[in-house]
Amino acid sequence: MEKFDYLVLGGGSGGLASARRAAKHGAKVAVVEGRPLGGTCVNVGCVPKKVMWNTATIAEALEDAPDYGFSTEVGPFDWSSVKRKRDAYVQRLNGIYRRNLEVDGVLHIEGFGRFVGPKTVDVGGRRYEAEHVLIATGGHPRRPPIPGQEHGITSDGFFDLKERPQRVAVVGAGYIAVELSGIFKALGSEVSMLTRSDLPLRRFDNMLRENLLEHLVEMGVSVEACGELTHVERESDGTLCMHTAEDRRLGGFDCLLWAIGRDPNTPDLGLEHTGVSLTESGHVIVDEFQSTNVPGVHAVGDVIGKWELTPVAIAAGRKLADRLFGGQPEARLDYENIPTVIFSHPPIGTVGLTEDEAHERWGEDGVKCYTTRFTNMYHAMTTRKTFTAMKVVCAGAREQVVGIHVIGIGADEMIQGFAVAVKMGATKADLDRTVAIHPTASEELVTLK
Ligand code: FAD
Ligand code: NDP
Repeated sequence: MEKFDYLVLGGGSGGLASARRAAKHGAKVAVVEGRPLGGTCVNVGCVPKKVMWNTATIAEALEDAPDYGFSTEVGPFDWSSVKRKRDAYVQRLNGIYRRNLEVDGVLHIEGFGRFVGPKTVDVGGRRYEAEHVLIATGGHPRRPPIPGQEHGITSDGFFDLKERPQRVAVVGAGYIAVELSGIFKALGSEVSMLTRSDLPLRRFDNMLRENLLEHLVEMGVSVEACGELTHVERESDGTLCMHTAEDRRLGGFDCLLWAIGRDPNTPDLGLEHTGVSLTESGHVIVDEFQSTNVPGVHAVGDVIGKWELTPVAIAAGRKLADRLFGGQPEARLDYENIPTVIFSHPPIGTVGLTEDEAHERWGEDGVKCYTTRFTNMYHAMTTRKTFTAMKVVCAGAREQVVGIHVIGIGADEMIQGFAVAVKMGATKADLDRTVAIHPTASEELVTLK
């Protein structure tokens, strides 16, 4: 049986980052991964999604181009050529990740790992043991347990599509439903978003949710709050029809995409041989240092179900390696004020507390919000319009900025810098005494009255 200091299950964002950091600290490390390296983000997540969002953004720019004086003759959009180039890019990244492991001296064990003891893992019949084992196995898209669900695809299937479907139903109202609905629509599909609540993005600030809904409707996405679906049928003409609990039929779709959340990859891990505790949803329970109830077994990333974002998995994985192998016993990720972007059209950037959360923490009188809504100067020339909406949530007598929420062109690139300010405890007065950059949309955040 081969022995390591650190055995990492999962070669995705969290696993690779943690393994490489541990190796840099001098540990003997192996990563177990049966799929192409890079995990969800690289293969079926952030990376190919951003390529498609860029593609959709170009479609919008082409629509605006005549308003800026270009006489464009735009030919048909070729989905398959973008897919081919996108797949090739992802493959290049897989190779880069492989080489990075080699450079750092991390062994890549190809296959899927299964615990056979608290710190012993079987991969394809061979056994490996380690002082510390990291569970970084991520998750997979959920499907509803209803008849006919197999007729639908998930975000994984979205990246397999060889051509653009014409009529698409997207079920869900979270990150993936919003992003993929926008991409389909901007690239020419007819899109229905089937939701169970009136507004998308349940956990986000209401200002963002309301403005996003307006944008989705404005761009032509049909958003239908239709409650739970009961079953899906394929009709004789090949189209798909969804039936709702309220006896409605929603038919005529040639593509159905489930975007109803993700489940953790824990059922096949042999965790019953470890005693590691799981939540009811199957996520691994960890303490603030990413450690499970079993000494020497740790977990990071989507498998703990906290903030399912790539940079969170990476940061938590690196901190863990610093603590275990880098002589930094207090190293841990601070999960407060994590910024996030939803690549909608236009995008959303957000960090910190929503207005409702701030009220819960600071009371009704302890919170003051500053808001604005305007049309970005880009649209001074265009027939197609989007607007920008912003909210700065301040709390306490010093008016500390505890939340910033933006929807509008450039919000995706805008929020990172403002997140630094929030993390540092900036006040409204700090924003006010920062000189604006003109003409930009972000200058509005330092001139709010
Ligand atoms: P993963 O990256 O999922 O890696 C887990 C790895 O473990 C996988 O490679 C899997 O094959 C492997 N594995 C599973 N079981 C075993 C086993 N038994 N043995 C060995 N290996 C195993 N986040 C962002 O921050 N920005 C975005 O724009 C963004 N866009 C997204 C778009 C989509 C469509 C999706 C689905 C997700 C997106 N995310 C985004 C989320 C992001 O991809 C995840 O949060 C991130 O990949 C989680 O990293 P992880 O290391 O926890 O898991
Ligand atoms: P989310 O948790 O964001 O959203 C799930 C959605 O599915 C919710 O709107 C929920 O509705 C809805 N839902 C759940 N069950 C049902 C059901 N039975 N019928 C109808 N609707 C249902 O999950 P996603 O799958 O969109 O994304 C998974 C995670 O991946 C995200 O949480 C995010 O962390 C990450 N991600 C990040 C991205 C980024 O950083 N830009 C992009 C894509 C994904 P309700 O509100 O009613 O509960």
